[in-house]
Amino acid sequence: MILGNAPAGIVLVVGGPGSGKGVLSKRLEQECGVVHLSSGDLLRDEVRRDTVLGRQVREIMERGELVSSAVIVTLMRRVMRSHPGKRVLLDGFPRSLQNAHDLVELCGTPQLALHLECDDTILMERILKRGNAGGRADDNIHTALRRLRTYHKYHNSTLEWLREQHVPVVNLDCSGDPESVWEQLCAIGRLMRPATRIDANSDTGMAVFPADSNNKR
Ligand code: ADP
Repeated sequence: MILGNAPAGIVLVVGGPGSGKGVLSKRLEQECGVVHLSSGDLLRDEVRRDTVLGRQVREIMERGELVSSAVIVTLMRRVMRSHPGKRVLLDGFPRSLQNAHDLVELCGTPQLALHLECDDTILMERILKRGNAGGRADDNIHTALRRLRTYHKYHNSTLEWLREQHVPVVNLDCSGDPESVWEQLCAIGRLMRPATRIDANSDTGMAVFPADSNNKR
């Protein structure tokens, strides 16, 4: 709902490994009722179930490289079919130009991208902390470095593609905790709410009145 009257159909969440794409997506799923689809989760599920596809991608993921776009598209198509007509939040897809072109074929141009940004050192600290806490198999120093390198290799061309497609990109500073990222999104939401007024006489000058407030002046 952030950038217009109609809710966006396809929203992307882009950002480096450990940037909090999953956490933000889960919160949006709870608060806005969108369907959260994570390419990484879909792949890990295949690996866990030891499917043919899972066996194909396990080593690539352990190396911190990207699996082929065809594989992701197969998984995405399958899962999207079970949510017809729903608003979808794509986490981790697209992350290469090939992915981007496949995405458009699969479901059209996205309406919005949320871009989580912070320093690599913070990303690295978070990944290693999650690894120490018994997190994912790829949360070790060796794979994490490769994931960061892979991210930087493809990220700029993905952003460039979004610009070319005129997809609005909302930059969010993800160096703080999940709540601070959420606050940034809410601030944009408040800006876009048409009838919000600022009470100039309040102590802080920051009090806001909802559109349906009786307190009209
Ligand atoms: P992160 O962003 O923290 O690396 P993800 O869960 O998004 O974690 O992805 C985990 C791994 O799954 C990636 O390192 C990559 O090997 C694979 N992967 C996920 N999404 C894609 C994608 N869109 N294209 C290719 N490979 C992907």
